[in-house]
Amino acid sequence: MNKTRLLIVEDEQTLLETLTYNLERQGYDVVTASDGVQALSTARGEKPDLVILDVMLPGLDGFEVCRILRQEMSLPILMLTAKDEEVDKIVGLEVGADDYLTKPFSMRELLARVKAHLRRVRLLREEIESSGQAVQGSPNGGVVLAFDELVIDEGRREIRRDGEVLAFKPKEFELLLFLARNRGIALGRSLILERVWGWDFDGGSRTVDVHIRWLREKIEVDPAQPTRILTVRGIGYRFDG
Ligand code: CA
Repeated sequence: MNKTRLLIVEDEQTLLETLTYNLERQGYDVVTASDGVQALSTARGEKPDLVILDVMLPGLDGFEVCRILRQEMSLPILMLTAKDEEVDKIVGLEVGADDYLTKPFSMRELLARVKAHLRRVRLLREEIESSGQAVQGSPNGGVVLAFDELVIDEGRREIRRDGEVLAFKPKEFELLLFLARNRGIALGRSLILERVWGWDFDGGSRTVDVHIRWLREKIEVDPAQPTRILTVRGIGYRFDG
């Protein structure tokens, strides 16, 4: 059986060793990098299932590494930050991280987050496998979901409407992918939060509504009269495909 592989990127040697020790003890296969350039080459070579990424790194910083990884692969990225300003950047500028922890953090909290994100990804995979949807493989891995005018390409992390590539924030992409994979099913806001954001996100269900509004503005012909992402009163949302 293949072990779940984690990449830890951290230039503080003591912290790197502590993280490695604790995660290996949990049964994970751990690979490490101590600067941004090494992080990219290790991620490309070792194909980890999840990345724990420090923001302050020599050379290429964690934000840049995150942005580049996001364009190349689809995997959870958990960032470690030292300051509140960095949190603003992760959340506000949407570098594409799935989660963040502010130093100092407890090892227990880190392990819980890692587990939650790996679980989220596993559930998504199981859903595709059991859905029997007519999907084709993407050359970069992942699936391609096609609905008339709308094409969602997971491997390329691309959404096209009538052949035109649309610009998306990472969470908008994941939200649309989740909705589309579960087309025809009414999905509650808390379920969407758990599966797309991976944990009980502070922003609560408002976060879901805001992202739905943004998505509709991008993919619907008339965002006020949506035909793809429908509101299900008292529950949440449903994708019609
Ligand atoms: Ca650092």
